[in-house]
Amino acid sequence: MKCLVTGGAGFIGSHLCGRLLRDGHEVICLDNLFTGSRANIAHLELDPNFSFMEKNVQVPFFAKVDWIFNLACPASPPHYQHDPVETVRTNVLGMMNMLDLAKTTGARVLQASTSEVYGDPLEHPQKESYWGNVNPISRRACYDEGKRCAETLCFDYHREYGVDIRIIRIFNTYGPNMAKDDGRVVSNFILQALRGEDITVYGDGSYTRSFQYVDDLIEGMLAMMKCEGFTGPVNIGNPGEFTIQELAQKVIGLVGSQSKITNLPAVDNDPKQRKPDISLAKEKLGWEPKVPLDEGLRKTIEYFRRVA
Ligand code: UDP
Repeated sequence: MKCLVTGGAGFIGSHLCGRLLRDGHEVICLDNLFTGSRANIAHLELDPNFSFMEKNVQVPFFAKVDWIFNLACPASPPHYQHDPVETVRTNVLGMMNMLDLAKTTGARVLQASTSEVYGDPLEHPQKESYWGNVNPISRRACYDEGKRCAETLCFDYHREYGVDIRIIRIFNTYGPNMAKDDGRVVSNFILQALRGEDITVYGDGSYTRSFQYVDDLIEGMLAMMKCEGFTGPVNIGNPGEFTIQELAQKVIGLVGSQSKITNLPAVDNDPKQRKPDISLAKEKLGWEPKVPLDEGLRKTIEYFRRVA
C-alpha cells in the first residue's frame, strides 16, 4: 500500500512508519517538526520506500495514496497548550485536509483520536458509548475539543461523501522516541530518576492513568486500518490502572535511583482517572495489549539512558 503518515516524525508516527516499511509498504511521512524530529526517522530515510516532507497538515496536500494515518498534533499538555489556537487549527483544518484527500483519492483514513475526548470522565472505565465530560473553555479544550471536532468531521465526511474512515481513541502511550521535553509523566519521571532529581508528582499522586507500550498501540492501529466494515471509534489502550504515585515508585525502583518524590500543586482540569474498556477492540479486532508496564518501562528507561 501507499501510505501517508501525518505527524510521522513524532513519537508514535516514527514507530508506525518503521512498522509500515517493515511490512513492505511505501510511506510518505509528513511533519512540520514542531514536536517531531528528524532524529526519530533518521534510520528510515535510507529506505527507498520512505520519503519525508516537511509540511504543515493545515495546508492542503495531494498524493495518490491508499492509506492515510492522521497523527499530526502535539499531544502533551505543555506542547498543545503552548499555542492553543494553532492546536485547534491542526486538529480541525488538518483533519479536513486529510478527509478531502481521502475523498479525492478514495483512500481509507485513520484518525488518531484520544481518550481526551472523554474529558474528566464520570464513567469508569470508559466505553466508546460514553460521550464524555469536557470543559469547553479549559486550557485542555484546544486539544480535547479539537479532537472531538475531528471525529465529528470524520463521521460527516463518511455520511455525506462516503469517505472510508477509521477512528481509534488512543489512551496514554509511552516508549522509545518520546521527546525529552515532552513533559508527560512517563518521560518526566524516567529522566528525573536517571538524573537523581526529585520526581515531580502533581497533586497528591492519587490520580490514575493506564499506560500502553507503543508496540501494542501500533498493532492495534494496523488491525483497525485493515479491518473491514467497522469505522470505530474504538479504544486502544492498556486497561492496567496505576496511580501516579505508584508509577513514580515503580520508575525509581526500575532505574535504581536515589530520587525522592515531591508533590507539586495539582494542574488545571487534570482528569482524575482514566482506564479504557477494550472489549470492543477485542471483539472487532481480536486485539489486546501484550506488554506489561514493567517490561515497557525497562525498554523506555534503556532508550532514555542512551539519549539523555
Ligand atoms: N503528571 C505528574 N508529574 C509530571 C507529569 C504529569 O504528576 O511530571 C501527572 C499529570 O498531572 C496527570 C498524569 O500525570 O495526572 C498524566 O499526565 P500526562 O501529561 O502524562 O498525560 P495526560 O494528562 O494527557 O493523561
